[in-house]
Amino acid sequence: MLEIDRLAVAYGAIDALHGISLAVGEREVVALVGANGAGKTTLLRTISGLLRPKGGEVRFQGEALGRASAESRVRRGIAHVPEGRRIFPGLTVMENLDVATTIWRRRGMSAAADLERVFALFPRLKERSRQLGWSLSGGEQQMLAIGRALMARPRMLLLDEPSLGLAPRLSEEVYRRIAEINGDGVTVLLVEQNTVLALEVAHRAYVIENGRIVLDGPARDLARHPRVREAYLGA
Ligand code: ATP
Repeated sequence: MLEIDRLAVAYGAIDALHGISLAVGEREVVALVGANGAGKTTLLRTISGLLRPKGGEVRFQGEALGRASAESRVRRGIAHVPEGRRIFPGLTVMENLDVATTIWRRRGMSAAADLERVFALFPRLKERSRQLGWSLSGGEQQMLAIGRALMARPRMLLLDEPSLGLAPRLSEEVYRRIAEINGDGVTVLLVEQNTVLALEVAHRAYVIENGRIVLDGPARDLARHPRVREAYLGA
């Protein structure tokens, strides 16, 4: 579904990604793990068209994305849930969800079924549908950020640190929902510092260090790999 070929990205004179290649198959959950500053966020932002690469290519469903705008990538089915759950604080839960439907919605089209699906996944959002974004707890904001991405009807979700700042029980809850979303047919590429959780949910993973992929394989195997255990699992 997604192929990344020798992707290089720089911030001015500073190289952040040094020619990264990876692939994500349809219906897979793939995790990118690595320390702070390894380049994980940069990779997601380049896939969603927020950053321009200086070399290499991103292909989605067989088509090179080239200089396609961020909006056109959402239309093709790529939805990005950024780090720090950037919901609209001054809009209600309902309005936050509604915003994302503008990508496909035309006059007379209903988002009722989409809304029902999001509320079935995250019942708390239904209870709080009239509350303003800022008044939600951290966990609820993360659920809203994921719910909003789903309202765009994505084929692939890019999730940046979905467990950041959440208590362990809540993180597990968010990851259960991510597995459920994947079960419904949405492909997932996620970035996560909580390596234990990421490797539990992902089918495969890539380890990124200093803008390069240093290891990859089935998540189960990586969880047992000495280098991963030492560097990321505190073993
Ligand atoms: P984190 O978990 O901290 O977000 P990360 O693996 O996602 O880490 P990136 O945020 O992609 O890493 O950063 C990769 C490299 O690019 C780092 O060296 C970082 O300092 C640098 N970098 C990131 N954003 C910018 C920016 N806007 N300007 C300059 N350098 C940046």
